[in-house]
Amino acid sequence: MVETDKEALLDTDVSMEMEAEIEEIDEEIKSFKMNEFKIGNQNFIFNAEDPIFTCTGEKKEKRELNDCGTCKIVSLTKKTMVFCQFCGDANCKDCCNKNRFYPRAKLDNNGEKPRGRICKLCDRKFLVRAILLESQAKV
Ligand SMILES: [Zn+2]
Ligand SMILES: [Zn+2]
Repeated sequence: MVETDKEALLDTDVSMEMEAEIEEIDEEIKSFKMNEFKIGNQNFIFNAEDPIFTCTGEKKEKRELNDCGTCKIVSLTKKTMVFCQFCGDANCKDCCNKNRFYPRAKLDNNGEKPRGRICKLCDRKFLVRAILLESQAKV
């Protein structure tokens, strides 16, 4: 657990991995319709008013799920659930291994924004939002 936290801390918001991911979803965004986006074979609805975009810290309410909230494939038990600290949903460990700044968080004593563990679904929503805002700015 400590080991993955360390790794996660090294993971910056604009990493190589993320650039690859942006390219990967660029095609999806081109065919973006009715605010739908895809992760694997799952369709999700993008909501610009999603509370994760304005959260100030860890979401306290946790939601236990039988299947991972992102991939919907991996079955979860109380032991294997990893809770996203943005949406509060249970995920498998592979779908919840990144972290990100809370968008509206106050700076901590080191002058840094606190980070939280984030699931792939929430992370993708931030990415979709960034791309949408960028494309709107161009128009
Ligand atoms: Zn999963
Ligand atoms: Zn989440």
